[in-house]
Amino acid sequence: MALLFKSNSDSAARWEKELRTHIPDLDFRVWPDYGDPADIDFALVWGMPAGEFHKFPNLRCIASLGAGVDHIFRDPDLPEGVAITRLVDPWMAQAMSEYVLLQVLRFHRQGDIYARQQAEKKWDTLPFPDTAKRRVGILGLGSLGEDAAKKIAALDFPTAGWSRTPKQIAGVECYSGQDGLEPFLKRTDILCCLLPLTPQTENIIDAKLLATLPEGAFIVNSARGKHVVDEDMIAALDSGHIAGAALDVFREEPMPASHPYWAHPKVLVTPHAAALTNPRTGAKQVADNILRTRAGQPPAYVVDRSAGY
Ligand code: NAP
Repeated sequence: MALLFKSNSDSAARWEKELRTHIPDLDFRVWPDYGDPADIDFALVWGMPAGEFHKFPNLRCIASLGAGVDHIFRDPDLPEGVAITRLVDPWMAQAMSEYVLLQVLRFHRQGDIYARQQAEKKWDTLPFPDTAKRRVGILGLGSLGEDAAKKIAALDFPTAGWSRTPKQIAGVECYSGQDGLEPFLKRTDILCCLLPLTPQTENIIDAKLLATLPEGAFIVNSARGKHVVDEDMIAALDSGHIAGAALDVFREEPMPASHPYWAHPKVLVTPHAAALTNPRTGAKQVADNILRTRAGQPPAYVVDRSAGY
């Protein structure tokens, strides 16, 4: 049995090396030179072309090279009976929380305004912000959102989160379901999106959601570009209702040079760099799942096909 690796952004050589520290005799094949398709029982992928998975009659598991699985569900013709797993890695959660904290603190401590003032050589000390009055809200309380929420709450920001099913997290006010969204938004001054991209969450940050946030709210999106309706975001920034946005993910990546976000004075752009997949820390979970699959056991971190994450 062999593993198929396919990614344009992750290093096959590094993954092969790290996986071999756990499974020394692993047969590691890199797409498209995978040999006999019947040998492949496990696929480790990011951005596999649609329809390809059907070529492997003995495929048992499709493992995402990232926390998101939307790139797998883009394929409308996924084979039935094959487990789909996502990467859950404390290293990635730490990296994402660092990004979210960086942006929350930057907006809270007026770093965006001071950067604009420096460009104008303007010395103007702003009124000092009050942590106890800066309410942070996290859309999505999964492996990344929960970690970020706890770390923000630990800095004494009033912190809330929103998820599909009810949650209880110490120090975090938890909202859930469609009914919970509006009250969650109304109490949120800095909104951070850590949702998976599914048909239910696509375009969730639209004009209606933005208008429900308090005047002067900030947005941090490090989930997926398709969560945001760009025209609505730009209109809300231009009207002043939204005071600033830190965006790490975009509908088209790399973002085209013509996109208005690049030059917008209230937008900070980072190139999908919030939390990268780390083969050194991620390989253990993948190796365990290879061994479980080959022993006839269900792999860990299987996603729910009907929920799409
Ligand atoms: P996860 O563990 O699957 O958590 C997803 C969370 O979103 C859960 O709390 C879930 O609710 C909630 N949710 C899903 N659908 C919802 C809906 N319709 N309404 C309300 N809540 C909903 O995912 P994760 O590992 O935290 O990752 C989140 C996302 O981050 C990934 O899917 C990926 O897109 C993104 N990401 C980005 C980067 C980057 O570098 N920018 C890196 C890694 C990941 P329940 O708890 O009730 O299920």
